[in-house]
Amino acid sequence: MPTCVVVGAQWGDEGKGKVVDLFAEECDYIVRYQGGNNAGHTLVVDRGNGPEKTVLHLLPSGILHPDKVCVIARGVVIDCDVLFRELDALAARGIGVAPAQLRIDLDAHIIMPYHRDIDLGREAASGDAKIGTTGRGIGPCYEDMIGRRGIRVRDLLEPSRLLDRLQAVVPDRNATLRWLGRPEVTVEALAAQLAPAAERLAPFAADCRSLVGDAWRAGKRVLFEGAQGTLLDVGHGTYPFVTSSYTTSAGVCVGVGVPPRAIEKVVGITKAYATRVGAGPFPTELFDEDGAQLRARGQEFGATTGRPRRCGWFDAAAVRYAHRLNDFTGLAITKLDVLSGFDEIKVCVAYHLDGQRLEVADADAVSLQRSVPIYETWPGWKQDLTAVRRLEDFPAAARAYLERLTELCGVPIDVVSVGPDRAQTLVLRQPF
Ligand code: GDP
Repeated sequence: MPTCVVVGAQWGDEGKGKVVDLFAEECDYIVRYQGGNNAGHTLVVDRGNGPEKTVLHLLPSGILHPDKVCVIARGVVIDCDVLFRELDALAARGIGVAPAQLRIDLDAHIIMPYHRDIDLGREAASGDAKIGTTGRGIGPCYEDMIGRRGIRVRDLLEPSRLLDRLQAVVPDRNATLRWLGRPEVTVEALAAQLAPAAERLAPFAADCRSLVGDAWRAGKRVLFEGAQGTLLDVGHGTYPFVTSSYTTSAGVCVGVGVPPRAIEKVVGITKAYATRVGAGPFPTELFDEDGAQLRARGQEFGATTGRPRRCGWFDAAAVRYAHRLNDFTGLAITKLDVLSGFDEIKVCVAYHLDGQRLEVADADAVSLQRSVPIYETWPGWKQDLTAVRRLEDFPAAARAYLERLTELCGVPIDVVSVGPDRAQTLVLRQPF
């Protein structure tokens, strides 16, 4: 019963969207299990009219495959406006999404208008202590989930239930809005605002834990699509510089409602170098010309926010930490093409911390901030890799670099990506 989780092995933006889209061809269900529209998965697919770029924030990356079932599980928080905009944008390009193709869990939480307002208000009030959130209400929505103040898809679908829930939570939310100097909300206005969303959402709503659990038990191929990255996990990342959800493979179980044994393969996605968006420790960050070159060549600007990403060398100590949490069965190394042209390429093989050598990152933000990378230097290569489709055709230096990465991380490589296009990929081992 092949199931596979695709997880970011770094700080997000590793190119998960492309890998999920690639694997989606081989599977029946594609399931998003955490995060919200703070994800920005970019797919480049040629459907016969040349390469077309699709940026998805909320819809599972399998949505371009009409014969697959895409699932937004209960662990995902849903901004209805974003969801409908994405569906409309696809429709405008002739890509219709039937309800049978997109199932949204009845227990998924809704990002309310006040969540966005609270997010922006908090970030504005926090001065130098900013987390660097995307300001989309994701964190406040998760807070309300845990604080038992959330509004779920199933609440939206039943007007009387929605009114009861709003009456219970609005006074508390208004207290926070007041404190942040933001406009207060009313039950009536919110209910009126949400009514059209409820109507449009209804045909997609389903009990997805049964749907996915039954699919797994029936031997269907299920792909779980992670968002953000392991080092941003709310429990295991560089807290407090983290996202608000469980990004690791374990997040699948709580985010979907399937048992741990439903997870078979875990593919860790990592760039051939490293990037990070927003604040927080990043030991291999480069502030020199090499960093600027990685940013320019790798087009390292956020798909969701357009923010320039911080860039640095590959960090094996961080990926080993991610491996420890996820138990990767394979790695997908993306953006190897971006490294063409460097005379030398560095790899962080371990850290020095308080006079000790550390092989596996300590993700505590303060420890990681003080961790000093120990680098190994590898010869670079000049050749363009974007047209290479076989491992044997890589320059020897690129092959040696890949071999070193797999050795350092202790994980075999399933996929090497040499460009944004679906075709620019070497699949060395199929996870399904
Ligand atoms: P995700 O959030 O992990 O899906 O990552 P993003 O989609 O935000 O970032 C990956 C970016 O890199 C996108 O613009 C992709 O089109 C692009 N990309 C993915 N794989 C490759 C690759 O192998 N080479 C290059 N040059 N770009 C890639």
